[in-house]
Amino acid sequence: MSNMRRMKLTGSYEAPIGTTMYVVNTGDWRYQRPVTIAGKCRKCGLCSLYCPTGSRYEEANAFATDLRYCKGCGICANECGAAAIAMVEEIRT
Ligand code: SF4
Ligand code: SF4
Repeated sequence: MSNMRRMKLTGSYEAPIGTTMYVVNTGDWRYQRPVTIAGKCRKCGLCSLYCPTGSRYEEANAFATDLRYCKGCGICANECGAAAIAMVEEIRT
């Protein structure tokens, strides 16, 4: 079975070049999630630059995570110089 068939596809659309593009909620792959410790976040944006899924975004007091696409790789936590991101186990109900 190809990797494409194993992924959960949440939708598709026709791209301008005539190819069918698929929407994949990469957040479904996650077994751990990043939690920002707001008091430590310096809002430097480094986590956003390194995130491979573009899931980190700026809020009023700290950077946060779009959990629809965060795949839990932990790169943001590893790169944060302020130790403002903790990786915690994902609990799915
Ligand atoms: S890298 Fe760390 S300190 Fe910088 S914005 Fe991200 S969470 Fe905040
Ligand atoms: S855990 Fe990985 S995918 Fe999720 S926000 Fe951090 S860098 Fe991005």
